[in-house]
Amino acid sequence: MPDCPFCQIVAGQAPAALVFQDDQVMAFLDIAQSTHGHTLVIPRAHYADIFSLPKELGSHLFAVAMELAPRFQKRLGAEGLNLIQSNGRAANQTVFHFHLHLVPRYAPTDFPLRWPNHSSAYSRSDLEALARLLRGESAP
Ligand SMILES: [Zn+2]
Repeated sequence: MPDCPFCQIVAGQAPAALVFQDDQVMAFLDIAQSTHGHTLVIPRAHYADIFSLPKELGSHLFAVAMELAPRFQKRLGAEGLNLIQSNGRAANQTVFHFHLHLVPRYAPTDFPLRWPNHSSAYSRSDLEALARLLRGESAP
């Protein structure tokens, strides 16, 4: 039996409440429901993180998430949906199998995340330097 619990689900060795599946992707309800309908979308093949995931498969995973999104609204009455990718040790994850989280939201929280955040530790020039780095440009 594989060590990875998601690979066990893919292999039919562990139970999962399936929401969707095709030849490349499965979606099932998170066993630790943070909110009603919390769903995980995974590739059938094991990829440890986004850096090793083939771009086409990543696009397909996102397309499946987009296919599922209206069902949360129509069938569960969700007002919103958080689509989250968090994988790996640095994200405090214990399952190292790439996955997306679809987290329905039913009411606004009383703790809105404001954008822009006026107490940002980054100046505009810090952000411009970081953007140059991500674009692959050298420092001025
Ligand atoms: Zn796996």
